[in-house]
Amino acid sequence: MSLTEEQKQKFTEWLNSHSNRSSCPFCGHNDWHLGNMIASPEFADGNVRLGGQVIPQFQLICGYCAYVHHFAAVPILKDSGSARQNAAESTSE
Ligand SMILES: [Zn+2]
Repeated sequence: MSLTEEQKQKFTEWLNSHSNRSSCPFCGHNDWHLGNMIASPEFADGNVRLGGQVIPQFQLICGYCAYVHHFAAVPILKDSGSARQNAAESTSE
């Protein structure tokens, strides 16, 4: 699934606030691109569990070597919302 502009913004803000490392751990370049959102199926007892949970993930892809980072999307989207809410509350007081 392609990311919406809001998802791209939240993921980018989350990345910037949670890491000071910008180079690729494999090749050392700094040429990152946001990929589409993917979902991994739950795996149990050596098999994909049909009807089990899926984990939505953001992808961060190195433009030089194609190394891919995966990040769980749900906590990032929740964290972004609460951070924005906290910021709004602190400025309204
Ligand atoms: Zn790379």
